[in-house]
Amino acid sequence: MASELVIVYHRQPYEEVEEDGRTVLKENASPNGIVPTLKSFFGSVDHGAWIAWKLAEDTSNPDFEPIIEVNDSYGTYAVSRLPLSADQVREFYHVTSKEAFWPILHSFKERYNYDPVDWPNFREVNWRFAEAAAAEAADGAVVWVHDYNLWLVPGYLRQLRPDVKISFFHHTPFPAADMFNVLPWRKEIVESLLCCDQIGFHIPRYASNFVSTARSLVDVTVSERRRVDSDLISEGTALTERMVPARVRWNDREVEIRVAPVGVNVDYIETRARDAATRAAAAEIRADMGDTKLILSVGRTDYTKGGVEQLASFERVLEKRAELHGAARLMHVSVSANRNMTAYEEIQSQIEETAGRINGRFGTLEWQPIALISRAIPFDELAAYYAAADVAWITPLADGMNLVAKEFVASRLDGDGVLVLSEFAGAAVELSSAVITNPFSHRSMDEAILAALDMGAEERRTRMAELRKAVRRNDLSTWGRDVARMGKQAKAEAPTP
Ligand code: UDP
Repeated sequence: MASELVIVYHRQPYEEVEEDGRTVLKENASPNGIVPTLKSFFGSVDHGAWIAWKLAEDTSNPDFEPIIEVNDSYGTYAVSRLPLSADQVREFYHVTSKEAFWPILHSFKERYNYDPVDWPNFREVNWRFAEAAAAEAADGAVVWVHDYNLWLVPGYLRQLRPDVKISFFHHTPFPAADMFNVLPWRKEIVESLLCCDQIGFHIPRYASNFVSTARSLVDVTVSERRRVDSDLISEGTALTERMVPARVRWNDREVEIRVAPVGVNVDYIETRARDAATRAAAAEIRADMGDTKLILSVGRTDYTKGGVEQLASFERVLEKRAELHGAARLMHVSVSANRNMTAYEEIQSQIEETAGRINGRFGTLEWQPIALISRAIPFDELAAYYAAADVAWITPLADGMNLVAKEFVASRLDGDGVLVLSEFAGAAVELSSAVITNPFSHRSMDEAILAALDMGAEERRTRMAELRKAVRRNDLSTWGRDVARMGKQAKAEAPTP
């Protein structure tokens, strides 16, 4: 059955679990992510489709079911699974996306690795996503493509199906032209993106960067610019923009440029925070801490997250302020997601070494300055730490948005707690009442954490009240409505054949 809405996202919209030797599809364990939000749009159409990849040991195995029909609480939709071999996944995802694109998107030129990229494989995988989307889309359907590993899908899809409306959302930063143009495939990527009807970004800076990159490569003209909404201005911080391009023209096509910062599911998080078990767990953590302040840092083990730089700041602060010994502890959660990638293994060892050194230098039998946790903490448990922490210390060197910062704020029903946030996280343009810090400056990092630890109750409460308003204003449902509007507008603006 043809679908009015086709979502193209590399992950499948459920978890596959083995039960008694059979594969069972289960709803995602955490309802606090974008997958459930995207699926919720299937409720407003007669039939939807989702395109993802699935690992297949033998890609020509006749038993592999490429398309399955799902009927769950979100609606009725087809899931088209592209069988990819382990090699294809490695090339497309771990090499091209993570070793070449990821460092450039986050402005780490020195980590960019071109040599192992198999560009024909990347094209082929993207072509197959486009073909699968074209096969599912009804006449004039809306197709939403997500993220940089599917950059070539819009261009291919436009060739296959000139009638469909294509929206693309970037979940990462989009860098400046002189950074993006390190990629030798820059023109092919930008030309593909310009085949969209709309391109969405978290914040105005990424939208501006995309447009100036496009202007460096092809003849695009900006047909509309807008003043940035005051909600997205955090005075004087690194990622703030005042004006943003809203529409560009290329090859007689109009492309809308949208800004929609992804948020968290505030209602869900508040329910978790209110839950008796979470409150009991938070009280226990507090009781165990006694008068010692808890600083919480949560992120993936990735050079973009600035884990090593943060630990180094903690070490400097402990050197400078002996009164903090025994009086503050850092719980540093750094989840290693990609164990088989050298870059991540290196960071993991550096984090372990640094934390070990700091504990060795300053720790006593009664007090260890750092609790290092390398495994993922389930959200329900994390909610208790969010509620119990005195400070959330979130200092990525580059981050598209950073949801942990927003989750911490949403969890603080008590209106207390301090957020220290890097000005290089997209969230910083919305969360101007955080203690904003520059993770590239030792002085700024050290001063920010000390200011947070020293902050009086009144200032903490005033800041947290502002932060809570901001997180509520752009929560996940606002993002959902914004991207849905993108789809509807694209349809309404479509020329009648
Ligand atoms: N997260 C988690 N357990 C952990 C660490 C992280 O559930 O131990 C979740 C966290 O709640 C958040 C997500 O992982 O929803 C991380 O999102 P964020 O935008 O901060 O960073 P990303 O990993 O997407 O760059």
